[in-house]
Amino acid sequence: MDTRLRRKRLILMAHPFKTVGVVGAGTMGAGIAQICAQNGLKTILFDLDQAALSKALATSRKMLAKGKEKGKVTQAEVTAFESNIDTATELKNLSGCDLIIEAVPEDMALKKKIFTELDGVTRKDCVLVSNTSSLSITALASAIQHPEQFAGLHFFNPVALMQLVEVISGQRTSSRVMKQLVAFAKAIGKTPVQAKDTPGFIVNRVARPFYGEALQLLGEEGGSEDVARRIDAALRTAGGFKMGPFELMDLIGIDVNFAVTQSVYAAFFNAPRYKPHPIQQKMVEAGLLGKKTGRGFYNYEGGHKR
Ligand code: NAD
Repeated sequence: MDTRLRRKRLILMAHPFKTVGVVGAGTMGAGIAQICAQNGLKTILFDLDQAALSKALATSRKMLAKGKEKGKVTQAEVTAFESNIDTATELKNLSGCDLIIEAVPEDMALKKKIFTELDGVTRKDCVLVSNTSSLSITALASAIQHPEQFAGLHFFNPVALMQLVEVISGQRTSSRVMKQLVAFAKAIGKTPVQAKDTPGFIVNRVARPFYGEALQLLGEEGGSEDVARRIDAALRTAGGFKMGPFELMDLIGIDVNFAVTQSVYAAFFNAPRYKPHPIQQKMVEAGLLGKKTGRGFYNYEGGHKR
């Protein structure tokens, strides 16, 4: 049996999620919806912004075509994506979903509001998860009536390429839901790692000082693009990292990275090692958000780093 068929069988047997909703069609939501649809799950991508939905579909089609060209994506997956993906601009369209993955900006109040609204339109057995990078899963779960049906499902950027998914258990998440989510992550071709609900979970907790020290060094050495380039090159060459810290922050989005840093810092009661850096704050204020806006630590005019 080929890998795709085996995966499809797993999808049908190991977890009950046949229809998946994804809330937020930005960098992460678009990628999450893509891999769900291409792996044979009915997928509804929701955003308030129609332009974000159109952009998400166009990006996925481009990525799938590129993957096919490289022999990493099959025609069957492209066909599965086209027949399974749907979009919506009204939450009530998600009422039939078995699983809903939220990927809106890193803002506790916004996420809680969306979960309370979803709670009002979904079935009691629908599992709700957040792709939050750092916010408390237990606190988010308080926005719904059945916190045992709530967990964190943290994908990494770019979703189609990154294997890891953190499956995060909140204070009241049921072990049944955790098992289902682990099976779901495997069924869509990912490698799940279970994590506790601590600030930043595993990866973002360990990664915070990586960004923080790099920003500190950049500030001390004058803050120019040339310094960022040198630090990135050193980390890539000597550290064995695929991307340096500034390239990575540009990919993630400076606004997203800054919000996560602020949230982890607050969650650790302002522990100095997680302190945000003013360089990032100024970049957010100036709208220099990285690759997605064409300018961050580097210039991306024409779509590529210069
Ligand atoms: P993004 O800014 O690219 O996208 C957010 C999307 O949410 C936008 O399309 C926006 O229109 C939509 N949105 C805003 N308010 C909405 C609402 N009320 N209802 C529906 N849609 C709404 O953000 P992103 O980078 O995709 O991050 C989303 C989440 O994923 C955040 O919690 C972030 O911390 C997490 N995350 C991000 C990365 C990353 O590298 N960017 C990695 C892992 C996790």
